[in-house]
Amino acid sequence: MEEAEWVWMDGTLVPWGEAKVHVLTHALHYGTAVFEGTRVFATPRGPAAFRLDEHLERLVRSTRMIGLTLPYTMDELRAATLATVAANGHPACYIRHLVHRGYGEMGIAARGCPTVVSIASWSWGPLLGTGGVRLMTSSWRRNDHTVVPTAAKATGPYLNSVMAKNEALDAGYDEAVLLNAAGYVSECTGANIFVVRDGLLATPPSSAGALDGITQDTVERLAAGLGLRAERRELLRSDLYVADEVFVCGTGAGIAHVSSVDRRELGGPGPVTAKLADAYDAAVHGRDDRYRSWLTPITA
Ligand code: PMP
Repeated sequence: MEEAEWVWMDGTLVPWGEAKVHVLTHALHYGTAVFEGTRVFATPRGPAAFRLDEHLERLVRSTRMIGLTLPYTMDELRAATLATVAANGHPACYIRHLVHRGYGEMGIAARGCPTVVSIASWSWGPLLGTGGVRLMTSSWRRNDHTVVPTAAKATGPYLNSVMAKNEALDAGYDEAVLLNAAGYVSECTGANIFVVRDGLLATPPSSAGALDGITQDTVERLAAGLGLRAERRELLRSDLYVADEVFVCGTGAGIAHVSSVDRRELGGPGPVTAKLADAYDAAVHGRDDRYRSWLTPITA
C-alpha cells in the first residue's frame, strides 16, 4: 500500500504514521465499525470523487443500522473528505471512511465509548486486476440478514468475506462468490455480481444478502443508457455456469469480467461486459456529460 501524507481523524489532519488507536478500542474486539470505499478519478477538469454523496449516505445508513451515532453532518463529512484528498494531492485515489466505536470502556455494549470518524486516502489500482477473474463458489455461506444487518457496510460481518476470500486464494482462484443460507447467489467478497444471458442483465437483490452496491446501481443506469435491460432477481449457482457473460463490480474492482466459475470456462470479456466497462470508464473519468452530476470535484 502506498502511504499518503495525511489522515483525517475527528476534525484534524494528522500525519499518516500517527493515525493510531488504542488496543482496547471497542471496534477491534467486537467489530463495531462501519466503513465506505469511494474512488477519486482523474478527469479533464481535475480529480473528482465518484458518487461521493451516495457513499456518504450509505455510511450514514450503516451507522443507523448498527446503532452508532455519527457526530458529523453530511456537509461536514463531504467537506472533510474533499479536504483530505486535496491535502494528499492525489490525482486519483481510493478513500476509506471509517466510523468506529473507540476506546473508553470494555464490554459488549460499551455505550460510553466515543464514536471516532476517520478518512484515509491512498493510491490503489483495480483490486481484481484486469485479466479476468477466476471465481470459486465459497464453502462459506453469506451472512444472513436474520443474524446481522447485511445491508450495513459493517466491519464485523466482513469476517465472512475474509474467510471466503482466503479460501478462494488458497485454492488458486482470484475471488469467491458466496451463496446465501437459502442457496441463492448473493455477491462476492468485495463486489456485486451480474450475469448476462440472451442480452439481459441480472443481479441479486439486497435481500439475497448482497450490499446495495453503488457500482451495481451505476451499472444498471449505464445499461439503461445503452438500451440494455437489467433486473434484480434470485440467481442460482447454475445460472453462473450457463451465463453468456459474468462480471463483478464494485468501487475497488471497477467492472471486471469473470473468466471462469468453479473452473468452468466463460472466456470473455463478452460484448455486453465490454460495452458497460467502456461506459463506466467514460462516466468515472468525466468523458460522458450525461453523468457529470456523479462527479464531485476535489476542492480544498
Ligand atoms: N459487496 C461487498 C461485500 C463490498 O465490499 C463491496 C465494495 N464496497 C461491494 C459489494 C460493491 O459496492 P460498491 O459498488 O458500492 O463499492
